[in-house]
Amino acid sequence: MTANATRVLVLNSGSSSLKYQLLDMADGARLAVGLVERIGEETSRLAHTPLATGGTKREREEAIADHDAALQAVAQELGADGLGLDSPELAAIGHRVVHGGQKFTEPTVITDEVLAEIERLIPVAPLHNPANITGIRTAQALRPDLPQVAVFDTAFHTTMPESAARYAIDVETADAHRIRRYGFHGTSHAFVSRETARLLDKDPSEVNVIVLHLGNGASASAVRGGRCVDTSMGLTPLEGLVMGTRSGDLDPAVILHLSRNAGMSVDEIDSLLNKKSGLIGLCGDNDMREIRRRIDEGDEQAALAFDIYVHRLKKYIGAYYAVLGRVDAVAFTAGVGENAAPVREAAVAGLEELGLVVDAGLNAIRSGEARLISPEYARVAVAVVPTDEELEIATQTYALVSS
Ligand code: AMP
Repeated sequence: MTANATRVLVLNSGSSSLKYQLLDMADGARLAVGLVERIGEETSRLAHTPLATGGTKREREEAIADHDAALQAVAQELGADGLGLDSPELAAIGHRVVHGGQKFTEPTVITDEVLAEIERLIPVAPLHNPANITGIRTAQALRPDLPQVAVFDTAFHTTMPESAARYAIDVETADAHRIRRYGFHGTSHAFVSRETARLLDKDPSEVNVIVLHLGNGASASAVRGGRCVDTSMGLTPLEGLVMGTRSGDLDPAVILHLSRNAGMSVDEIDSLLNKKSGLIGLCGDNDMREIRRRIDEGDEQAALAFDIYVHRLKKYIGAYYAVLGRVDAVAFTAGVGENAAPVREAAVAGLEELGLVVDAGLNAIRSGEARLISPEYARVAVAVVPTDEELEIATQTYALVSS
């Protein structure tokens, strides 16, 4: 790596999408951001914004057959802005990898062995790891000389004690099939818990934080002194909070009941719980903006969906309060957490005895900055902390390759 190689390309490959950001780690500046959607379909779409040159968003609609073609198209767009992937200033490519199992506790330079292990984890991440592997292979083909780093969604949660990570099922069966609670959104929980400590002017090792990552997918975590001690997602991202389209927690016997009595196949139940449940299953909408609009118009179904969402959230705040014993801050993040003041207000309502209070005026302020929304006298800080998974992936990638 040359001394002036300070750029990191962050790639987040989904089954039919490729999100990317190019960052300069000399100052953390975002040079370009973009997204390729509908890869493999008749018309794919590429949206690219060259922030470095102050350029506006460019969009292309054309057939992009696979991830290889998608990355080629991205490279072309970057090249047009003088940010080409052949640049000596590019230090590494950082890949978001969803499942790292128990093995990957840190960001890891990708070797053949590492790739083989990510492949071995496909049975526990059938939707995500294959797409991540495709992204890695594609990037390796384009720049075989460059370090490629995997940053795992599960890594931050590998510090969970066995008491939190194990399900209470037969140990031999669990071990034979790698069944345990891994947790996801780890990059976000790591970033937000650290930023919350910074907001409180404390070292992460000094604070206990409950992080509520509320996006379309949603998860909570209990972070003691910078280390995760519990999180709400489990073997897969299905467990825990009510999400946009996922049910979160339910009695496992619901699955048996659907299979035995409703005649549903495993794939149908999978689709029901992951894609047709949560907010969308409860009221037909998974966007919190739309749900709030409907509630304002007196829609009872939307109001009930909101109440179920908040009830589950409150249960997790209480549970993680008990797990941590002492809580310094509760941090809201991601699309809903950062933007939906009514969710924040309702989640904390009635928890004054626990030291949790939200100031209505502060909660109503819209801002892209990390901020406190609790009054000064409150025992527990309530914060809104915008997450930045790409910056976190780039930071971890750069730290690894420049050390
Ligand atoms: P994410 O997965 O973090 O991108 O979050 C996406 C979700 O955030 C959307 O489905 C919406 O429910 C929610 N969201 C985004 N913007 C707002 C907003 N201004 N108010 C309420 N909810 C929002």
